[in-house]
Amino acid sequence: MEAAALDFLRNVLTTPSPSGYERPVQDLVRAYVKSFADDVRTDWHGNVIAAINPAAPQRIMFAGHCDQIGLIVTQVDDNGFIYSQPIGGWDPQQLIGQRMTIWSAGGPIPAVIARKPIHLLTDDERKQVVKQQDLWLDIGARNKQEVLETIRVGDAVTLQLGYQEMRNGLANSPGMDNKTGLWVVIEAVRRAKLRSPRCAVFAVSTVQEEIGLRGAQTSAFGIDPHLGIAVDVTHATDCPTIDKRQQGEISLGKGPVIFRGPNMNPVVSERLIQLCQASQRPFQLAASGRATPNDANALQISRAGVAVGLVSIPNRYMHSAVEMVSLDDLDHAANLLADFAVSVAETDDFTP
Ligand SMILES: [Zn+2]
Repeated sequence: MEAAALDFLRNVLTTPSPSGYERPVQDLVRAYVKSFADDVRTDWHGNVIAAINPAAPQRIMFAGHCDQIGLIVTQVDDNGFIYSQPIGGWDPQQLIGQRMTIWSAGGPIPAVIARKPIHLLTDDERKQVVKQQDLWLDIGARNKQEVLETIRVGDAVTLQLGYQEMRNGLANSPGMDNKTGLWVVIEAVRRAKLRSPRCAVFAVSTVQEEIGLRGAQTSAFGIDPHLGIAVDVTHATDCPTIDKRQQGEISLGKGPVIFRGPNMNPVVSERLIQLCQASQRPFQLAASGRATPNDANALQISRAGVAVGLVSIPNRYMHSAVEMVSLDDLDHAANLLADFAVSVAETDDFTP
C-alpha cells in the first residue's frame, strides 16, 4: 500500500460520515480523486462519482458506501442530558462506556454514554439488556440552555473516531464498515487508470447504505452500468462464538471475500475467482442465498438489471468501536477490482 493511499484510508476513517451527514468524507474523496479521475461529479443525493473513460460504451460501476452508523440528537432534557435516535443498526450494549463526538455546526463536541455503576444496579437491572432509548449523551453541561448554545436537534453523533494499527498487519477503527470498501473502489480506479482499461469505470462513494442502500439505488440509476461490483465488509468468523456452519470460514488476512449466490451474476463471480487464481492472490469464498444486505442488492435490480459481483473485506466486531480488518485484504481487493476493470472487453457476455 502506497503512503498516500494509506493516508487517504486514515483520513476517511477519522472523518465523520453518519448516513445523511457524509459531506466531510465526500470532501476528502473529491479532493483525492481529482488527480487521477477523468471526471468527478456529485449528485444531489450526495453520491460522489469518479470516472475514467466515462464515454466508453461498456460501463462498470464500483460501489463503496461511505456512510457509517451513528446517532442523531432528538431532545435535550432540563439537566442538559441529550437523547438520540440511532442512524443504522446499533447493538446498544456497544455504546455503554463509549466516548462519543457530537458534530455541531461550531465543531466537534466530546460526549460520553454510560449508565449507573454496577454497585447501584438492582438484581433485575443487571440481567436486562439496555435499550437505546434509555441511553443519554453527557457533554458535561450544567443545563439544557448551555447545551442548546452549541447543539441543535438533528446534529449527528459518532463514536470518538480513531485509527490504531495492531499486530500482523491488522488495524482497528470505528467505521471500517465501510470506509474500507470506499477505499477499495477509489484505489481500484486509481490503479486501473495506470493500466488503460477499455471500458468506462465509475467508482462511486455511495451514501445512505446503512439506512437502506439508498445511494447505490440513485447512483446506479444515473450511471446506468452494465456491470457492477459492490465492496463492503463481511463478518470475519475467526473469533469465538460465531457459528461457522452458517456464516462460513472467513478469516482476517486470508484475502478478500468473493460472494456467490443469487444476488451475484455467476459469470462475474467466476471471473473474479479466475483473476485471483491467475495472479496467485489470496481470496475466500462466501455464500448468500438471498438478496444481500448491501449495495450489491440495489445495484443488481437497478433499471433493467445489472451483472453484479460482491467483494467483501473480512471485518471482526462489525458495528462496534473496534472494527478490525487486515490491511493486506484491502490491498488485494483493490488489485482484484483493478484487474476486473482491465479484463472487461465490450464483446464480453455476462448473460447468466
Ligand atoms: Zn456496510
